[in-house]
Amino acid sequence: MHESEQLVAQLAALEERFRQRLHDELDELNHLADHLHRTPGALQDLRDRLHKLAGSAGTFGYAVLGERCRELEQRAQAELDAPHRSSAVLNSLAEATHHLNQLLEHTPDARTEHQRLDTPTTDEGDQRHIGLLVADDQMREQLERTLGSFGYQTSCFDNPTTLHQADHIDAMIVDTSPPGSTLLQDPVFRQRDAQSPPLLVISSQDNFTGRLHAVRVGAIGFFTKPVDLPMLESRLERCFNTLQGGPFRVLIIDDDTELSARYALVLSSAGMMVDTLSDPQQLLDKMTAFSPEVVLMDLSMPQYSGPELAQVIRLNDDWLRVPIVYLSAEVNAERQMSALLKAGDDFITKPISDSALLTTVYARAQRARMVSEALARDSLTGLLKHADIKEQVEIEAERALRTRSPLTVAMIDIDRFKSVNDRYGHASGDSVIRALSNLLRQRLRKIDRLGRYGGEEFVAVLPGCSEDDAFSILDSIRQAFSAVQFSSTQGKPFNCTFSAGISSCMAPGWNNSALLEDADRALYQAKESGRDRVCKAGVSSN
Ligand code: GH3
Ligand code: MG
Ligand code: MG
Repeated sequence: MHESEQLVAQLAALEERFRQRLHDELDELNHLADHLHRTPGALQDLRDRLHKLAGSAGTFGYAVLGERCRELEQRAQAELDAPHRSSAVLNSLAEATHHLNQLLEHTPDARTEHQRLDTPTTDEGDQRHIGLLVADDQMREQLERTLGSFGYQTSCFDNPTTLHQADHIDAMIVDTSPPGSTLLQDPVFRQRDAQSPPLLVISSQDNFTGRLHAVRVGAIGFFTKPVDLPMLESRLERCFNTLQGGPFRVLIIDDDTELSARYALVLSSAGMMVDTLSDPQQLLDKMTAFSPEVVLMDLSMPQYSGPELAQVIRLNDDWLRVPIVYLSAEVNAERQMSALLKAGDDFITKPISDSALLTTVYARAQRARMVSEALARDSLTGLLKHADIKEQVEIEAERALRTRSPLTVAMIDIDRFKSVNDRYGHASGDSVIRALSNLLRQRLRKIDRLGRYGGEEFVAVLPGCSEDDAFSILDSIRQAFSAVQFSSTQGKPFNCTFSAGISSCMAPGWNNSALLEDADRALYQAKESGRDRVCKAGVSSN
């Protein structure tokens, strides 16, 4: 493939650059070795350089040299720690250092093998296809209907084998009811591997054993009946789109520019977005501008230590969720632990293979994104929370300004909701909130953003949508919602309505910050003029 050839060529160029640097580096080491007796600081310098080489040489294929450097580094460290310098030790250290050159000549195969970097790719566009193995008719129909309205295609199967043999299945949902079902023990499930489509399990019992069985066959979701369909849908969405929100962003902080260039190349060839930082003074600006999801941090750099920089990152609340992984030639477990105690989450010991680097970073980034997503979502509705939907309004408003495309924001509030709670109970109130959030998700497009702004108040952000278009969409949702029949816990039927205010950024005199306020004012207008209606800000301000 063209791209992988290009990657191999780029890696080879980096290796060539490293080889040249290695020659210079070994000259420098030899020079230091000759001055160990006379120059104060030479031993420390030697140790530091050996440490760095121990970390980088292996990555570029000089494994034997790397190991030897590590050994000498440890000897130099022991001498640094000793109360007195021993002339014999210094001599043997100098001699051993001179011998490093031979390892350079004799490195049998300096070329590292370039494994195929298996990377999960996101193919956008097509409809996702979900395979259902659900015996319960009612459950299956519900799933088909809900998934269909969220834009998924579904196919039903009646046994595990045909389900797993089916082509083009992007994910599968398996119902393991009734209790005691041994469905997941079918050999087909046990043969699942990393290439098998993601599996969500539905069960009628919520217990540890059920979850354990699910995990053993590689399930990534477990739902008990009655199934919370929006939650299930958001889990599905998440498993496809860890990936939504674009490629993972990884920041590499290392003073060894060849090494970080190599890591960057490996990670970016796997579809990640990588930025590197060699001057830690720029750390804060870089964190703000690039907003990495994972930070790879060298442990020791000339003027700053990795844990110091990690602590600087941790001082900012916005970056608490960003995993920090040390990349280090440090093999001493105690020193690794003391670094982790200061800050940071994990260690990868240099030299590190391309695939190990990729796997570690991928796993960390995926988890970080999942945690962020989960924290940003409201537990009752699965929608974005107040602060996150507000942020979306800002992001979309900026985009709209830049691209000169219309944008409409809607503020939606359920009418006389307090009396719903009072009459039918809080639980019934909750189900109304969920129903409205489901309806909004079903009726709006994938690119629209939806949040629960407050208790019974929602905000929808509709990019590329004029005020008139938004009006007709919301008005049809309003009619659909008023037709939904709810039933109280006592079985009493009732209906609800909502009011909405919309405001568009193509309205005259529009400015970014006023968008939500205008929508709110329009909502107030809708309430004032009788509820169960949609009002435009454009009209209300005239
Ligand atoms: P209006 O038509 O003017 O909007 O009247 P309202 O009663 O809907 O407005 P108000 O803001 O006075 O009351 C909102 C109520 O929503 C008050 C609060 O108890 C209820 N509420 C807020 N969050 C939740 C929730 O998560 N679940 C339930 N069941 N009720 C909630
Ligand atoms: Mg209300
Ligand atoms: Mg309200």
